[in-house]
Amino acid sequence: MMHKKIKPHSCVVCGHSFTQSEHLKRHLQTHEETKDDRRHHPCPLCDKVLSRKDKLKEHLAHTHSPEREAARRLELENARVATNFIIV
Ligand SMILES: [Zn+2]
Ligand SMILES: [Zn+2]
Repeated sequence: MMHKKIKPHSCVVCGHSFTQSEHLKRHLQTHEETKDDRRHHPCPLCDKVLSRKDKLKEHLAHTHSPEREAARRLELENARVATNFIIV
């Protein structure tokens, strides 16, 4: 018999799937902890939606750190310059 990786228990809040209902139960508690917060925390800087406030904070600090943003701007600027160069 094949051992298929079926995960029949999925979280209604964030869509995470679990192989065992116990795992899902435990996972759902993490959502309960932040009940007073809104369930989803969309990032104001990109389309990412985080399930927890602390995750959003982490995302902001990690993905949108000043260094990263500066690097991204530089990349955009370089792309613009490259485009101009081709046109000229
Ligand atoms: Zn979940
Ligand atoms: Zn973001």
